Amino acid sequence: MFKKIPGTRDILPDQVASWQGIEETSRSLFALYNYKEIRPPLIEEAGLFNRSLGDTAEIVQKQMFLIQKAEDEYALRPEGTASIVRAYVENNLDKTAGFEKFFYIGPMFRMERPQKGRLRQFHHIGCEAIGSRDPALDVEVISMADTLLRAFNIEGYTMVINSLGCANDRKEFSASLNAALKNHLPALCEDCKVRFDRNILRILDCKNESCKAIVKGLSLQNAHLCRQCAQDFQRVQKGLTSVGVRFEVSPYLVRGLDYYTGTVFEIKHHNLGPQQDALGAGGRYDTLVKELGGPDTGAIGFAFGVERLLLASHNPPSRPSAKLVYIIPLGDAAREHGIILLHTLRKNGILADTDYENRSLKGAMRRANDLQAAFCLIIGDDELKKNTVMCKNMATSKQKEVTESELINFLGAGCRG
Ligand code: AMP
Repeated sequence: MFKKIPGTRDILPDQVASWQGIEETSRSLFALYNYKEIRPPLIEEAGLFNRSLGDTAEIVQKQMFLIQKAEDEYALRPEGTASIVRAYVENNLDKTAGFEKFFYIGPMFRMERPQKGRLRQFHHIGCEAIGSRDPALDVEVISMADTLLRAFNIEGYTMVINSLGCANDRKEFSASLNAALKNHLPALCEDCKVRFDRNILRILDCKNESCKAIVKGLSLQNAHLCRQCAQDFQRVQKGLTSVGVRFEVSPYLVRGLDYYTGTVFEIKHHNLGPQQDALGAGGRYDTLVKELGGPDTGAIGFAFGVERLLLASHNPPSRPSAKLVYIIPLGDAAREHGIILLHTLRKNGILADTDYENRSLKGAMRRANDLQAAFCLIIGDDELKKNTVMCKNMATSKQKEVTESELINFLGAGCRG
């Protein structure tokens, strides 16, 4: 018997209501902020991610699902930002629209060691606003993330923000880290020894206890920010405070990808376990659009992991489902008529189903109970002759004969899908 690949999941019908709740809540909130949905392909040229995330990023080095076909190398997308910037540039949206706000919902793929909250196929809900360097946009994006979390009924999270500054500031920051960490090199973990040469900022993210202790002793203070970047970061903080977003500033928050510049943020939650405490994360990437062939313009986005949102929410929003009406035809003539009645109910927006397994009346009633039907409509020879149905209210067990012309009104709004 086949089994699913480790790190992948079947999302079964009884779990789908919470997924739809999270997705629909997101869609309506994104719409309120005037973000438009975009659906890029799940598969891209691998080079797109190497170029965008950086060759030294862990995702690129260890986690991409690669497909080699003759000369071409493709990758299942590990994240959304690179694809969306590629789509923005390739479809000339920089020329036709200029500033654009997108959101996306869909699966991402990373070859990771599966554990709680860490999967190989997981799902992002994210957004990208492309075409502006205005710090007010950072405020919009971060406060939208905060509003989404509240709408998902998630509490107890911490919004952590930082600024990496412009490309120059980043370079200076790396150089000062290099000077500060040089003497600690022998005590760093093997991964961080490699990071020291290739992507030193990543050391600040390391989960290894001894690296964490060394990093803690560095007393970082954002001294690398130039005047403009420091001013912008102040404006972001002031704006967030003015719209009631609670946040902490941490000079230790760096995010591991090459494309990040300026504001970065991460939303942490204690319920997710020590190795992965982030519900979502994002930041500015003011050099990526140009890097991928577009204009020299700013952009910012974030992504939430849906599986982690569901782990963190005690009461995820779910779509209220309509009450089921279950038709039980007795005999062949009733069965033929039942098909028409089912069609009529559905045409009137009523959630309706019937027995396709030739059950007895008792068996069909038991099935209706299992399905939590609100009403059973029993059709026998008598009812057929009179153009009526016997309508049983499953909560009260009361029965009433109802003519078919009255039926839609009788069932009421509660059964509408
Ligand atoms: P990242 O692109 O790594 O910053 O991811 C953004 C968010 O996606 C994280 O904060 C997690 O909520 C989620 N995420 C990332 N990787 C995984 C994974 N392997 N399994 C489940 N969720 C993930």
